[in-house]
Amino acid sequence: MNNSQPYRLLAPGPVPVPAAVLKRMSEKVLHHRTPEFEKLLIESWDGLKQVFRTKQPVQIIAGTGTAAMEAAVVNSLSAGEEALVIVSGKFGERWAEICEKYGVTTHRLNVPWGQAASEARLQEALGKIKNVKAVFTQACETSTATVHSIRQLSQIVRKTAPQALFIVDAITAVGCMPLPMDEWEIDVMIGGSQKAFMIPTGLSFIALSERAWAAQAKSTIPKFYLDLAAEKKANGKKETHFSTPTPLIVGLNAVLQQMQKMGIEQVIKRCELLAGFTRTYGERLGLGIYSESPSSSVTALSTPDTVDSAKLRDWLEKEKNITIMGGQDQLKGKIIRIGHMGDVKDEDMFALLAALKEYLKSDAELGDAEQRLTTVPALFS
Ligand SMILES: *Cc1c(COP(=O)(O)O)cnc(C)c1O
Repeated sequence: MNNSQPYRLLAPGPVPVPAAVLKRMSEKVLHHRTPEFEKLLIESWDGLKQVFRTKQPVQIIAGTGTAAMEAAVVNSLSAGEEALVIVSGKFGERWAEICEKYGVTTHRLNVPWGQAASEARLQEALGKIKNVKAVFTQACETSTATVHSIRQLSQIVRKTAPQALFIVDAITAVGCMPLPMDEWEIDVMIGGSQKAFMIPTGLSFIALSERAWAAQAKSTIPKFYLDLAAEKKANGKKETHFSTPTPLIVGLNAVLQQMQKMGIEQVIKRCELLAGFTRTYGERLGLGIYSESPSSSVTALSTPDTVDSAKLRDWLEKEKNITIMGGQDQLKGKIIRIGHMGDVKDEDMFALLAALKEYLKSDAELGDAEQRLTTVPALFS
């Protein structure tokens, strides 16, 4: 670690928390059963509904994104029921593993890494399974920085398997790309605090459509902490079922207010601009764009055969105090992943580019990079 340089967190989660939000979080620790906290909670539920673009309640789970994934499975299905999981990377595989642990008969639709799921192959796979009860996917598969066509996939599910719930892990999508839950007929959608909601790790969010709530009532998988019906009942009384990490909700509330003030479209635009910037200058430095369907929340750049991306990542951490991510499993050593969510500053992007240029010994011309970033709207002024 090189502490002579400012720390720059450019991972696809956790992401940099805006300074104003960190300050609010550190002011005091509220008790979760107080009128002051109740107000923040109600405002946060409301703000989340706006970001999810749903009329349904969005619940807050005190647990990381995987807790919301598990909640989606245990509240939607029963053991022995059939589910189809789109597996296009590490997180798709996690959906399948959770389903299997709970005795759900799990079919995998394996998608080559770096590609978006094909609508035709989804239709074909659904045609082969009798009475499939749920279809699981990511909106953005973070491990490969690939975005799927959620609108189109949703239509295929409705048409081919109308009884099935369409369940979307939107942890690196909701809050940073267009994903209107109700309009696109998503039955269960989840988000995570340390990704698009730009606060520290520890909270996740989940919303269920009316159809999903009907399935919830019938689901027989045992559940206690993640029983969404019990949480809903408590939320109806304007409280959470269990204790709540109140500083995280204070932070969430501040972020949601700022998102409303800026307009969610601007927050989305910001990610798109940062992603476009990263692709342009990454290519100029001789790196490749790994995904065939690149996301605007995270970019995967492939390194030349002569460059081990894991070593590059370690060097950035040790010499430059910059955190990015490498590749996992089959992508180990082959890609770097750079996040665009959260309060990424212009100077962070310049520092990263300059460091990459140094490591790759590139003579690429980057002089216009500064100009290009002036179009990115600031999150907090
Ligand atoms: C980060 C992430 C998760 C898991 O979240 P944790 O907070 O690490 O439990 C799940 N799905 C996707 C797409 C993610 O990016």
